[in-house]
Amino acid sequence: MPKGKCDRCGKNAVIELPYGPHWFCGEHFLRFFEKRVRKTCRANKLIEPGEKILVAYSGGKDSAVTLYLVNKIFGKRNPIQALLIDEGIEGYRDKALDIAEKNCKAWGIPFKRVSFKKEAGFTMVDVMKKTGAKKRLGSTCAFCGVIRRRIMNQFAKKLGAEKLATGHNLDDEAQSALMNLCDADLSRFLRLGPVSGNANIKGLVPRIKPLWESPEIEIIAFAEFNGIDYYREQCCPFKWQAKRNDFRGIVNHLESSYPGTMYSVLSFFRQAKSKIGKRGVKTELGSCSKCGEPCNGKVCNACKQIELIKKK
Ligand code: SF4
Ligand SMILES: [Zn+2]
Ligand SMILES: [Zn+2]
Repeated sequence: MPKGKCDRCGKNAVIELPYGPHWFCGEHFLRFFEKRVRKTCRANKLIEPGEKILVAYSGGKDSAVTLYLVNKIFGKRNPIQALLIDEGIEGYRDKALDIAEKNCKAWGIPFKRVSFKKEAGFTMVDVMKKTGAKKRLGSTCAFCGVIRRRIMNQFAKKLGAEKLATGHNLDDEAQSALMNLCDADLSRFLRLGPVSGNANIKGLVPRIKPLWESPEIEIIAFAEFNGIDYYREQCCPFKWQAKRNDFRGIVNHLESSYPGTMYSVLSFFRQAKSKIGKRGVKTELGSCSKCGEPCNGKVCNACKQIELIKKK
């Protein structure tokens, strides 16, 4: 329990935010957190009045809090739906999606549950069995992400959504920025931000990140203080392969030694984006000759990966 008093009311604090530093009681922390999400949405024009919003909801804390707050803040003037994607990882995602379904019903939010098996022809367990996660296919998570992004975009269009909200948080963004830096990938770095990619590309539903400025640890506290149920058990059994794990460790270490580092990374991103502008960011894409989704070359990454798996 932190020793300080709440910045707002002077009661005993239940949470300390070292980057401020701030101390808050439960009530004022919840207000502080929600206000920051409102600001992220307003300042970046993430959700305009009347727009149909689809929230990608995995059952984890980040997407649970995203759906809860998007519905709370915008639910009266925007139709909100949830998309639950099952990668087919038994004992993990099925349990998480059961919690997601339960929350959607309790919050009165319509949802659609879809699966890798039906949409791509295999589950992630099938992929692991076939490939043994050989380097040639990239890490399991990179593969999983490509397929998930395609399903999200396809269903956002099918369900008539104008924006697709994801649970990406400040930690994710700081890790991605550092990964792009270490890969010397400026184009990918410039595609980060509260709206992913380019909002004007035909066939690509803009992906928005209402938790862009919200640290992961505060998302957990927000869910706990609000009594939001989320999947807390084991991690995905394939997560160990993610390159991101190494970057998560580095960013966590830096943030704990130098509080505010993650916000500095966001600030650096904003400066770079405003100085470099839109140069280097594509404004037009072709479409995949196999599935019709927007892509750079003739065939999209998802179709290439699916072909590779089928050949195995
Ligand atoms: S941890 Fe990786 S493999 Fe597991 S669900 Fe997430 S992206 Fe897919
Ligand atoms: Zn207080
Ligand atoms: Zn394709």
